[in-house]
Amino acid sequence: GGSEKEATTTQAVQVAVNIRPLIAMERVQGCSDCIAIVPGEPQVQIGHHSFTFDYVFGSSALPLDSIFDKCVKPLVEGLFHGYNATVLAYGQTGSGKTYTMGTGYTVRGNTEGVISQVMETIFNRVETLKQEADFQLQVSFIEILKEEVHDLLDLNPSPADYGYMGGTMGSAFGGGMKVVGTGKPPIQIRETISGGITLSGVTEVNVKSLEEMASCLERGSLCRATGSTNMNSQSSRSHAIFTITLEQRRKWDKLDDCGEEYLCAKLHLVDLAGSERAKRTGSDGARFKEGVHINKGLLALGNVISALGDDKKRRDGGHVPYRDSKLTRLLQDSLGGNSRTVMIACVSPADSNTEETLNTLKYANRAR
Ligand code: ADP
Ligand code: MG
Repeated sequence: GGSEKEATTTQAVQVAVNIRPLIAMERVQGCSDCIAIVPGEPQVQIGHHSFTFDYVFGSSALPLDSIFDKCVKPLVEGLFHGYNATVLAYGQTGSGKTYTMGTGYTVRGNTEGVISQVMETIFNRVETLKQEADFQLQVSFIEILKEEVHDLLDLNPSPADYGYMGGTMGSAFGGGMKVVGTGKPPIQIRETISGGITLSGVTEVNVKSLEEMASCLERGSLCRATGSTNMNSQSSRSHAIFTITLEQRRKWDKLDDCGEEYLCAKLHLVDLAGSERAKRTGSDGARFKEGVHINKGLLALGNVISALGDDKKRRDGGHVPYRDSKLTRLLQDSLGGNSRTVMIACVSPADSNTEETLNTLKYANRAR
C-alpha cells in the first residue's frame, strides 16, 4: 500500500531549462544568443515571450547550480524510500539532451552527465547503509523506435533486432558475431495486478559495483550509437531509457519483535527523441513515418504530463492517457501518483534555432 507515502512536493512534475552554450558550428555560422535570463529568477525571455520554470541552468549569469544537485539528487534519495522516479531530457536534436543525461557515456572519457552522478550517489549511499540493509541493484537499457522496444543490453539479439543493429555488431563487440535464430519473442510491456509496469523479455543485469553499472551504460550507449549508418539520425528518432531498480531488505530481530521490510523502486533516466517536427525529419516516406511515430510518444507524454499537472483532474481521478504510446505506457508507474518526475528542457541559445526553442519552452510550460 502506498497511502502512507506522501510526496513532499505538491507539483507532479518539476521543470528545469538547460541552455547549452553556443557550439563551434553556431559561432562559425555567426549565430547570436537569443535567450535572456531574468537575474535571480528561473525565468527566460526570448523575443517578447517570457517563461517561468522551476529552475534555469546554463547561463554564466547564474550561480553554477548543478542540475544533478537541485533536480535529480532528491529523486535518488526517494529511490531509497521506495519512490519511483523519472528524469526526462526533452529538446530538439543538437540541444544537449545526450550531453546532459550522459547517455553517450564511455568509461575512458565523456563521463559527465546526470547518469554518472546518479550512479555514484547510489553506490555511495549503498556503501553507507549496507550494515542496515541488503541492497540489490539491477539495470536495463532500452530504446523505443517506431513504437517498438529494443534491448540495448542484449548480447544475443534476435534476427529482427540484428537487422535493426545495422550489421555493425561485429565491429562494436570485437569479433564477428554469428547470429542464429533465437526465436525470441519481442519485448512486451505488461501491467501487474498491483499496477506496476514490467518489461517481459528485457535484459536485466544485476550489478554489484559502480564499474559494472557504468559498463552497462557504456555498452548500451555504444549499441545505440552503432545501430544506424548515420549516427545521429537514429538517436534523434528514438527514446533511450536507462533504468535502475533498487531493492532493499531490512531485517530486525529484537526481543519481542522480528520481521523484514522490503522496498523496491526504480528510476528511469530518459533521453527523448528529438522534438523537431516530422516535416523536418525528411521527405522520403519511411523517415516521415518514423517521425510520426516519434511524435506519438512525445505527444502522449505532453498530454500525460499536462493531465498530471491538472490538480482538479488528478483529484477527480480523471483520465491520464498513458495508453496512447509505448513511452507513456512504459513510464506509467513512474510518472504521477507517488512518483517524482523532472523534465529537463534542453535548448540551444542560437537565434537560428529560435522557432524550435520556443516550441520546447511551450511544451515544457504545459508541464507546470
Ligand atoms: P542532442 O542529444 O540533444 O541531440 P547533444 O547532447 O548531442 O544533443 O549535444 C549537441 C552538441 O552540443 C554536442 O556537440 C555536445 O557536445 C554539445 N553540448 C551540449 N550541451 C553542452 C554543454 N552544456 N556544454 C558544452 N557543449 C554542449
Ligand atoms: Mg542525442
